[in-house]
Amino acid sequence: MTVGEDRFKLLLKDRGLKVTRQRVAVLEALASCPKEHLTAEEIFELVKVDCPEIGLATVYRTIQLLNGLNLIDRVNFDDGFVRYEMGSALDSGLRHRHHHLICIKCGRVISFQKDLLEGMEAKIAETAGFRVVNHEVRLYGYCMECGGDLIEEKRE
Ligand SMILES: [Zn+2]
Ligand SMILES: [Zn+2]
Ligand SMILES: [Zn+2]
Repeated sequence: MTVGEDRFKLLLKDRGLKVTRQRVAVLEALASCPKEHLTAEEIFELVKVDCPEIGLATVYRTIQLLNGLNLIDRVNFDDGFVRYEMGSALDSGLRHRHHHLICIKCGRVISFQKDLLEGMEAKIAETAGFRVVNHEVRLYGYCMECGGDLIEEKRE
């Protein structure tokens, strides 16, 4: 198993949850592909490698449980699938979740790690007295394969 295993065990214990192989395996599946956004079925396929006895229903239940604790986050890209990624509570290096760049031509979703919203967050705190702790930013456009790197109009 991976280096994350002990950390996941601690996270579960910290939240008063029993450490089970299935719970650790679901967290590991998501941690093993930090840039991907997996459906419950895809998580199931990954978890089966270590826990061949696990059923899809258990994976669903485990996902709901971990989602409720922000250990995994639900993401929706309007492609007809509910997807999951590592939760903001689990991603210790990043306080806020990454942004999503969505290609409107091929549907590819690219994770963008830098927050870049700190200035706006400070402004909001100052003017509205509202403390931003997380956000879900989706930016729509064209990926590199779909011509996103081409300059459409030439400047005079
Ligand atoms: Zn594309
Ligand atoms: Zn993501
Ligand atoms: Zn932020």
